[in-house]
Amino acid sequence: MKVVKFGGSSLASGKQIEKVFKIVVSDPERKVVVVSAPGKRFAEDNKVTDLLIECAELCLQNQDPKEKLDAIIGRYAAISEELALPAEIIGEIQADLADRLNRDKDKPDRFMDRVKASGEDNHAKLVAAYFREQGVEAHYIDPGVAGLLVSDEPGNAQALPESYRHLYSLHERSGVLIFPGFFGYSKEGEVFTFSRSGSDITGSILANALKADLYENYTDVDAVYSVNPSIVKRPKEIKELTYREMRELSYAGFTVLHDEALVPAFRAGIPVQIKNTNNPNASGTKIVYERDNRNGPVIGIASDQGFCSIYVSKYLMNREVGFGRKLLSILEEFGLSYEHTPSGIDDVSVILRENQLEAEMEMAIKRRIETELHADEVKIEHSLALIMVVGEGMRHNVGTMARASKALAKASINIEMINQGSSEVSMMFGVKEVEEKRAVQALYEEFFAAVPV
Ligand code: ASP
Repeated sequence: MKVVKFGGSSLASGKQIEKVFKIVVSDPERKVVVVSAPGKRFAEDNKVTDLLIECAELCLQNQDPKEKLDAIIGRYAAISEELALPAEIIGEIQADLADRLNRDKDKPDRFMDRVKASGEDNHAKLVAAYFREQGVEAHYIDPGVAGLLVSDEPGNAQALPESYRHLYSLHERSGVLIFPGFFGYSKEGEVFTFSRSGSDITGSILANALKADLYENYTDVDAVYSVNPSIVKRPKEIKELTYREMRELSYAGFTVLHDEALVPAFRAGIPVQIKNTNNPNASGTKIVYERDNRNGPVIGIASDQGFCSIYVSKYLMNREVGFGRKLLSILEEFGLSYEHTPSGIDDVSVILRENQLEAEMEMAIKRRIETELHADEVKIEHSLALIMVVGEGMRHNVGTMARASKALAKASINIEMINQGSSEVSMMFGVKEVEEKRAVQALYEEFFAAVPV
């Protein structure tokens, strides 16, 4: 049995939904279908989720959301018309949205999640109606009734362990089950969404809960590429990679799959297949537990911007018991999460996502580190990009780091920081954001261009 998830662009229009239908019915194993909200039909188009967020924001500011609301309903109406669905479906979506928008706004985050989640919830109802119109037994599944319980963290919910047991009973249902992605219910019965692009997480949870043989994730590219195609033209496609490799790549900007989505599938050992709705015959990319990694040390290169580093140096830091803890607890008190902490004998850098910091907070942190930890130097550096060079093969290949740093040196790129995780699945380089593109190109050239494709 397979769980199949379709992303927003695969469900953005009636024509796309016809493709989805064909894909699902061509294989009777495709029993559970997870849907996103309608995405973009063309580059300048809006995602329904973005429109819903704007609509909820207007309501929270006591402004008239009519224009946004009309645009949202307009998207569903256009799809429904293209698919010649009965008119009632749009009336139901309208009523559902009006109900969500009229509920109390005392807790704005919860109000926001309730409105946001309607994108997938209503689309699942519409898609199920279309399947039935085609003569296929299909049911919309309410995540609340099916028991997808999540933590009460707005915009960042996590599935609760008991959800897996509850969802297993979906096995007893007949027909194709259309399940809305992106949200679940708290124990108190309130809607909470996962982080953005979280329908991937729903699919993975269902694959785990139902002990599926495969989790298929349909999107709009033929495969996961070894590097961002907007940085290197026609990069090599990756046919197979491991969960660990995908996790590292999606951490640093490979957006094909949400980085949290791998965990449930990984825990149950369920392979994930990335496929293209617009080209279903392309073999796609398979994410597996283990792969043959003899063909080169590197499988992919990812990069992401928006990092900063807090550099702290103090003579004899290595002998001072508790220095690291004290430093990190200052950051904790400011509610900051950190990404990496490369260190030397007398210095340590803490790498953070820059969007968490404001100028005032930055000054206060610097002052506290200087006064409380008696640091010799505290320096905050902005606009860093992190580049991840990823591959299980690194473990068995000598000299990968030397090749990478030589390639960067040849391109006259200054490495601000290097970090190699203990797992030896990746190497990380910090460079100035302005150098990011050139650095990725130089690394790609080194590890891929010479390899016959
Ligand atoms: N529609 C949601 C988003 O745009 C979730 C998803 O598509 O996976 O973030």
